[in-house]
Amino acid sequence: MFNLDALTRNNIKTLAPYSSARDEFSGEAKVFLDANENSLGSPLMKWYNRYPDPHQVKLKQAIAKVKSAQTNQIFLGNGSDECIDLLYRCFCEPGKDNVIICPPTYGMYEVSANINNVEVRKAPLLDDFQLDLVHLESLADANTKLIWICSPNNPTGNSLNRTDIETVLNNFNGLVVVDEAYINFSRQRSWVGELAEYPNLVVLQTFSKAWGLAGLRLGMSFASDAIIEIMDRVKPPYNINQVTQELALQALEEVGQVNDMIRLIVDMRNALAEVLVQIPGVEKVYESDANFLLVKIREAKKVYEYLLTKGIVVRDRSNVKLCDDCLRITIGTEQENTLLVDALGSLY
Ligand SMILES: *Cc1c(COP(=O)(O)O)cnc(C)c1O
Repeated sequence: MFNLDALTRNNIKTLAPYSSARDEFSGEAKVFLDANENSLGSPLMKWYNRYPDPHQVKLKQAIAKVKSAQTNQIFLGNGSDECIDLLYRCFCEPGKDNVIICPPTYGMYEVSANINNVEVRKAPLLDDFQLDLVHLESLADANTKLIWICSPNNPTGNSLNRTDIETVLNNFNGLVVVDEAYINFSRQRSWVGELAEYPNLVVLQTFSKAWGLAGLRLGMSFASDAIIEIMDRVKPPYNINQVTQELALQALEEVGQVNDMIRLIVDMRNALAEVLVQIPGVEKVYESDANFLLVKIREAKKVYEYLLTKGIVVRDRSNVKLCDDCLRITIGTEQENTLLVDALGSLY
């Protein structure tokens, strides 16, 4: 049986959260002398002398609309990376609990675990980059609090089988975190729609990829209101700054434009994959549901260095298990993709 209380760290269960000035008074007033801000203003144009809304109410309402979620099922972080760190701090007792990751996958799950002194157990993906359910099950014990699942996965680019994720959700009493940073580039249905079904589900999404706003640092967690309440307790009071809240609200008015970009990137991804497989030395271009391609290429390390001499930076994944001789290549502009293809074409 899933029991959130039993999953939560004791110190967090009994934590009295910081109560900010904006928490203690949130009504209408003319004169705000409660937060030690600079009442004269700032060198900048707008009202940045005031602390931002610690609960990001307007922004969450706009996100809830776009994502068909409820506002109390949304937590916003300073990038998904903050959400990842917070999940450790809320649920994993340092030196005692453990989590499971499925490499090759996003590096922050392990780095964040190490920072929090939480043991990482590894159930590597199978040769087809799908979950090894048997291995996963053998690793989980009473102290396993989180299982990290990245779909579409970074750096392999594929989506993980929905039925496999379902199996994990149904058979694991800890939290299953499905990181959907690249979901907009795939045809897969988001797991956000399944929150009512699974009290142990946490879905991560981000404004850094499809929304084109990596510079704003805005990540989203979707989960039951009970899980969100615990994350809210632990977060720094003003973790989403005023500028980010305003600009993200503006961006959310432009869903159409974002969808146009997504379609264009997907078309360019598919076109680039077709061109790359024909280049001598390229052994395989993996199917991608993301905005990058994993490319197996002869002497990948050397190719990586060669591309650098041409001013082109890709991600060298050649010493990652299951990715030997692989480069991860982000889809660029039409012109950038052509520069890449021309450089690779003149290799041999
Ligand atoms: C890029 C990426 C993120 C995004 O992190 P932010 O902190 O939101 O920029 C999260 N997960 C995966 C798998 C990623 O590749």
